[in-house]
Amino acid sequence: MIRRDFLGLMGATLVGSLAQADELKHPDIWVKNEQKATFESVISRLDRVERTIGYAKFNLISFNDVLKIAKSFPRIGAFTPAEIAYIEEIFYTDPVIYGFYGKRTIQHLSDAINEKDVIKIDGTGHYVYRETSQELLLRLMKDIGPTLILTSGVRSVVKQLSLHLEKIKSENGNITMASRSLVPPGFSYHSVGDFDVGKKGWGYQNFTANFARTEEFWNLQKLSYVSTRYTVGNGDGVRFEPWHVKIV
Ligand SMILES: [Zn+2]
Repeated sequence: MIRRDFLGLMGATLVGSLAQADELKHPDIWVKNEQKATFESVISRLDRVERTIGYAKFNLISFNDVLKIAKSFPRIGAFTPAEIAYIEEIFYTDPVIYGFYGKRTIQHLSDAINEKDVIKIDGTGHYVYRETSQELLLRLMKDIGPTLILTSGVRSVVKQLSLHLEKIKSENGNITMASRSLVPPGFSYHSVGDFDVGKKGWGYQNFTANFARTEEFWNLQKLSYVSTRYTVGNGDGVRFEPWHVKIV
């Protein structure tokens, strides 16, 4: 434990210098002025889809189903050609230009999750993949106790797109900054098995560095069968995410 803590502190300095080197190589990229209106309208249309089908279902929905649902509900309205082109651009752009070096996990925008492959976890609006992810989650919930909860599970391309765009918005249009904490759609391991855990009742705090101070996190660290995807100084260019459990 002491060794890990020590490495953690060393890593923090390393991360600082890596981030600095990266800033020189890749200056921050922002949403272009001419795309701002489309950016906003995609966010609000996705939001209307989510409110129509519900939070849990939105975690799994495919791009093709989103297009169909939007078209059939007047309160959502069909995605415009400009909006579709913008979504395609986001999905197929190589995010290395944003300083993100992770691997692509989903090849096509239209790739869908087979609902038979996932299972909903009681008391959450989230799903995990059956077998591998499900077994690991149940095992660590049993080993850590009832205060450990699933905070985010399987995410379709659409869900990741929506989270990514919301993050860019909260970073005032800075795509580079947003990509460090919410990876672009097509690059998330949530789409293929990883999940996030947190401390019951902690809400948003579970997605901050404060989670690394909880007893739940330290107990997670003690389990030899658990590893964290985005460690301090990870090569993907993602911030340290103590809550994100690596599966594949
Ligand atoms: Zn995660």
